[in-house]
Amino acid sequence: MGGDRLRGRAGAAGGGAAAAPARAAGHRVHAAVLRLRRAPRAGRRPRRTAGRPVAAEPARHPPRPPRLGVGGAQQTGVLRRVHRGGRHRPAQPAGAAAGLRGGQGGVRGGVRGAQPPRVALHPDGRGAPARGPAAVGGVSGVHAAHRDAVDAVDVAVVGGGPAGLSAAIYLARYNRRVLVFDTGHGRSTHHQVNHNYLGFPGGIATVDLRGLAAEQLARYDNARIAHHLVTAVGGDAERGFALRSQGHVWRARAVLLATGVLDHFPHFPGWRSYVGRSMFWCITCDGYENRGRSILVVGHTDAAAGEAMQLHALTDRVRLLTNSHRDDISETFHRRLAKAGVEVVHDRIKEVEGADGQLRAVVTRGGLRLGLDALFSIQGATPETALARALGVRLNPAGYIVVDSEQKTSVPGVYAAGDVTSLHSHQVAAAVHEGAQAASAAHYFLHPPELKAD
Ligand SMILES: Cc1cc2nc3c(=O)[nH]c(=O)nc-3n(C[C@H](O)[C@H](O)[C@H](O)COP(=O)(O)OP(=O)(O)OC[C@H]3O[C@@H](n4cnc5c(N)ncnc54)[C@H](O)[C@@H]3O)c2cc1C
Repeated sequence: MGGDRLRGRAGAAGGGAAAAPARAAGHRVHAAVLRLRRAPRAGRRPRRTAGRPVAAEPARHPPRPPRLGVGGAQQTGVLRRVHRGGRHRPAQPAGAAAGLRGGQGGVRGGVRGAQPPRVALHPDGRGAPARGPAAVGGVSGVHAAHRDAVDAVDVAVVGGGPAGLSAAIYLARYNRRVLVFDTGHGRSTHHQVNHNYLGFPGGIATVDLRGLAAEQLARYDNARIAHHLVTAVGGDAERGFALRSQGHVWRARAVLLATGVLDHFPHFPGWRSYVGRSMFWCITCDGYENRGRSILVVGHTDAAAGEAMQLHALTDRVRLLTNSHRDDISETFHRRLAKAGVEVVHDRIKEVEGADGQLRAVVTRGGLRLGLDALFSIQGATPETALARALGVRLNPAGYIVVDSEQKTSVPGVYAAGDVTSLHSHQVAAAVHEGAQAASAAHYFLHPPELKAD
């Protein structure tokens, strides 16, 4: 019973919410900052991996520019190659290594020096001519200076949570040019402390884990993090992929989606300040610390009822608040809850009492005051799959990206990792593993045929 919740899986059945249409990935734009570091100078010797020269792989120029889209809609126009007087960049000298072109916006921590050289990344890294300038058609509000930029990396990773950062570190160490896009609004950006991730006896705040991973990634010149929202993606493995962010279009030979999910936490003034401190969603993550405490489970489905039953094994002070005009809890679960003495309240949250991240009570619209130490929200989550759908990636009935054991999606050259996938365990450890696996699979995919055994 309720094994899903015990394993920390996002509540796909939670309120049927996971089946709701994924939100467009454009609803939260955080400060647009591109992390810049000086790119290796042209003419430097190529980096070596494990003592062996890195094989330069043949360039794969897309014969035609890929189309960009979100959610399958062709809403953002077509990338066109056009030459504009004086704007095109000179050919990249032989031996030029990876460097990322700076975008607009400020520069965040770890900056060394000023603007990096404007070096277009080229898939083979051997100094093939930089692509001619291009313009993004049909996009309004794009600053002219950025219309012309089309740079390329080996792998574009969308999402800088545990899955994306793990993937990027692996890819960087495979000597791939990797660009991570992240807007910092995912599950790993709340206040929670992870006590079940290996190697941190006192636990580690997930934001600190992200910070450490970003620091680890910063050691590699061939990897960058762009704090940008990716709003559109298109293309395929043959032609290459293109991603639009902040009015800039990036090319990539492979795409790795690690976009996570959006949890449906109850929204009341200041709700974010409670997430991870006294408002949780997963018993695997936070059940242990809440043994013996007064817990309010919020949700109106069997998933919520199951969570309440499982929490009841940790404390006898559990109540369930439906927080909906619906009650989709089955008769079976109602009987179980009643037998266990778990009170079910059919009402909705009006406001909360609490301070400094600690909830003290929920006040309902009906005027009840429900005292509590912790709230477990089982109202479902929406996987962030707008980009996946734009690429034609297969999703499962609950809306998560279907991947195989190597994190391959149904679309060649597109990989997915972490909570956005249909895999069972939505945990940091799983996200880190899946990111690593996806990176390895993408790296292998990018090898020229003569390097492959199959
Ligand atoms: C309160 C709470 C407590 C938890 N406790 C634990 C715990 O104790 N142990 C544990 O193992 N797990 C815990 N988890 C779960 C854990 O945080 C997730 O499993 C993990 O963060 C998943 O990592 P991810 O990289 O797949 O996704 P996320 O961490 O959600 O990262 C996805 C990233 O993608 C970015 N993104 C999405 N779309 C775009 C786009 N279009 N362009 C650019 N960027 C984009 C987002 O900004 C985000 O940073 C907890 C979660 C919560 C909410």
